[in-house]
Amino acid sequence: MEELVQRIKEDGRVLGEGVLKVDSFVTHQVDPNLMEAIGYRFAEVFAEVGITKVVTIEASGIAPALFAAKKLDVPMIFARKAKSLTMDEELLTASVYSFTKQVTSQISISRKFLSSEDKVLIIDDFLANGQAAKGLVELCQQAGAQVDGIGIVIEKSFQDGRDLLEEMGMRVVSLARIASLKNGEVEFFEGDA
Ligand code: 5GP
Repeated sequence: MEELVQRIKEDGRVLGEGVLKVDSFVTHQVDPNLMEAIGYRFAEVFAEVGITKVVTIEASGIAPALFAAKKLDVPMIFARKAKSLTMDEELLTASVYSFTKQVTSQISISRKFLSSEDKVLIIDDFLANGQAAKGLVELCQQAGAQVDGIGIVIEKSFQDGRDLLEEMGMRVVSLARIASLKNGEVEFFEGDA
């Protein structure tokens, strides 16, 4: 997606350890126009699938997921990383190792929001080693819901996430694919969605 690639070139910053900082438009300050365009692009790509729910993980997946859900006219559910006192119903839970925080945490969604009737589009801001997306797939599978696609805003293709998810039989669509972050430079893959 050209608009996203341009923005990463202009405002993305490479940190050590293969991490891209996009806190001025995705992960802290959020550009609503760009998020809308991203969400609508996902909705367009998955328009024919019959998606009934969009599932993401807090916090940075919420903005693109919400716009995709709005365009698909379905609810958006975000998995929580910390259990809230108000979550008193039965929960779907999975363990996720965080690439950026380097800790394992439990993610959860109330069981009442997902069922075997659902066809799910999973959305997240980054794909690195695939642990966040895999955890979201596991939550859906616990509910008997079918995952019909995974939409990723920024894929770091030099990490193992895509392989892991494709081995699970998942369709992965990324709007920007980064081939390398070596030497402080962002190098893109051709053929983005
Ligand atoms: P994974 O679970 O695929 O290893 O990592 C994905 C999660 O880690 C995303 O939800 C995102 O929050 C975070 N993440 C992974 N790589 C990066 C990165 O390069 N930059 C930022 N800002 N977050 C990242």
